[in-house]
Amino acid sequence: MITAERKPFDTVYEFARRHKKVLVLGCGTCVTVCMAGGKKEAEILTSQLTLKARQDGVDLEVEEHTIERQCDREFFDEATQRKIKDADAVISLACGVGVQFCIEVLPDAIVYPGVDTKFYGATIEQGLWSERCGGCGNCVLEQFGGLCPVARCSKSLLNGPCGGSSDGKCEVNSDIDCIWQLIYDRMKKLGRLDELEQNQPAKDWTTGRDGGPRRILREDVTLEANP
Ligand code: SF4
Ligand code: SF4
Repeated sequence: MITAERKPFDTVYEFARRHKKVLVLGCGTCVTVCMAGGKKEAEILTSQLTLKARQDGVDLEVEEHTIERQCDREFFDEATQRKIKDADAVISLACGVGVQFCIEVLPDAIVYPGVDTKFYGATIEQGLWSERCGGCGNCVLEQFGGLCPVARCSKSLLNGPCGGSSDGKCEVNSDIDCIWQLIYDRMKKLGRLDELEQNQPAKDWTTGRDGGPRRILREDVTLEANP
């Protein structure tokens, strides 16, 4: 999933107090799972903003609404579009995709990001999420026993560790496992250590962010292909 963290309250309050009527728009998918921007967080933020505005004597009305996904047009139903149009501004608790897509659906809307989007990650335990994929567009997991050096090595090294690894931890941060230690251990367990001796050619980074903004077109599933 895409992970995110709530922006500091003061930042969001500064967005809100520029307007008289604000809609806090939660998103029911990734940011709900990582507890940053689902219905519960939208309700809490709405209460916090309302209370703070009252304390400060600021004329601010805040409403909450949450939809299943802000990155999908089908969930911007009539009621949602009306709420957005009725508000002076929206504080979206979706990831950066949702914030931008909200403006694509309703180009006149003013939409502020209420969360900071982080990474593609997994839930390790309650309250802990960890990066697992960098969306490189050309997955090479099979070559490394299912562990990703692109996203999980601080230097994205594909031909072994940098030499700074210590006690299995990354030299960049001792809280991070050196992924090359984990790759070595796993390939050894799988009896595939010899594969790590093969030199990996330079990776084509143009399939990732370095190639510019990307899109996927599946002609077989477009509405034109399926009238
Ligand atoms: S190799 Fe690329 S696509 Fe595969 S997990 Fe790593 S970053 Fe993601
Ligand atoms: S210590 Fe390991 S994870 Fe950290 S940069 Fe070096 S090889 Fe990559």
